[in-house]
Amino acid sequence: MSKVPSITLNNGVSMPQLGFGVWQVPDDEAAKAVGTALEAGYRSIDTAAIYENEKGTGKAIAASDVPREELFVTTKLWNSASETWTRDAVLRAFDASLAKLGLDYVDLYLIHWPRPMRDDYITIWKTFGELNESGRAKAVGVSNFKPAHLRRVIDEVGVVPAVNQIELHPQLAQAESRAFHAEHGIATEAWSPLGQGKGLLEVPTVVAIAQKYGRTQAQVVLRWHLQLGNVVIPKSVTPSRIAENIDVSGFELDDEDMKALAALDEGRRLGPDPDTFDWN
Ligand code: NAD
Repeated sequence: MSKVPSITLNNGVSMPQLGFGVWQVPDDEAAKAVGTALEAGYRSIDTAAIYENEKGTGKAIAASDVPREELFVTTKLWNSASETWTRDAVLRAFDASLAKLGLDYVDLYLIHWPRPMRDDYITIWKTFGELNESGRAKAVGVSNFKPAHLRRVIDEVGVVPAVNQIELHPQLAQAESRAFHAEHGIATEAWSPLGQGKGLLEVPTVVAIAQKYGRTQAQVVLRWHLQLGNVVIPKSVTPSRIAENIDVSGFELDDEDMKALAALDEGRRLGPDPDTFDWN
């Protein structure tokens, strides 16, 4: 029995609503962290080419006795690895990620950032459609796309992304993106769902709600996401926190708590603005 509920993506693929993020986990520590997460019951892992830990992630998957079909593995194309992308370059980057992971398919492949100033995400998105049709990416989606970027891929390519993974936590609630996703059948996946553990977990409102339920602040914030319908991928390398972050069933925030957490929104990003981000 899975500890985590699943959502159904717009192409029928099932995705766990809570997974394990591995940004900033060095490759030689990733196998241990991912192994701990799999033992704790996580079945979804979120990595990326730029995290440089696809190999370590793949090692943990190979060492685990969880059958591949019960796992949901996400990786991402690092846009800035190329000046402007061509179809062949995208296919090569995808092959490289699969080889590092030691897998013959991923469950979800994402465009990491839109880089609108390069004007190449339409070419990338068309190629992602091919990867999806070939079955080597069971679902394809995007990350850090604003509604204007999503509208372009939908209008110009005609394929709606299954997922948009964006920075999202109570202090950056992303109402406009969430409404756009709901209207178009795109799943909202929250990165830095705990606000990177910086400050958010000490906010008095969060502390008070945690005390009310006898839960931790991290569990309250993750519960808020799940009740909104967001997919979450909290990261930790600490075994007790890895276990804590998946132990989020068995209590339900009431309307008053949900409103109090929504009131923390101040539109403040921890990460860069996708309209201008073009890191090389
Ligand atoms: P997060 O919100 O998951 O916070 C992680 C940090 O919070 C940890 O390093 C730790 O300091 C703290 N923490 C974790 N569990 C805790 C607990 N139970 N109690 C107290 N503190 C706790 O932040 P994140 O790692 O930035 O985001 C999660 C994942 O999202 C990443 O690992 C990555 O997979 C993904 N991500 C994607 C993008 C993107 O551009 N698509 C960007 C950033 C992150």
